[in-house]
Amino acid sequence: MQSWIPPSACLVPQGGNQCDFCNTPGTERFYLCQNFEMNGRLVFRNGQGAFGTCLKCAELIDAGRWSSLAERAFQKFMKHHAVPRVDAVSVRLQFADLVRLFADHRKESRQLSEAGDLHGEATN
Ligand SMILES: [Zn+2]
Repeated sequence: MQSWIPPSACLVPQGGNQCDFCNTPGTERFYLCQNFEMNGRLVFRNGQGAFGTCLKCAELIDAGRWSSLAERAFQKFMKHHAVPRVDAVSVRLQFADLVRLFADHRKESRQLSEAGDLHGEATN
């Protein structure tokens, strides 16, 4: 079976003003995170960075509802990308991976302004 890889730009933090999980415009919160590999590529250029999220995803993160967060990101992604039905399962697994890795590498720090700076840096 051929695996279908979504464009990595849709899966990893890119900075800018969209939620890094569900791609909703408008980042409300930032979460500092250690670097990790996704699809064989580091998500941050340096040792750490920040995920910017919308308010809804932030609520799920704060509540530790990882499967709900992965499901939300997956559903939003499917709405905006023409993913063949047969590949939906692998896309879902990738979001589950992303959320799990984020949960493992996230820092508890609440230094929001610093995190915001790191997030913006990712666009350079
Ligand atoms: Zn979101």
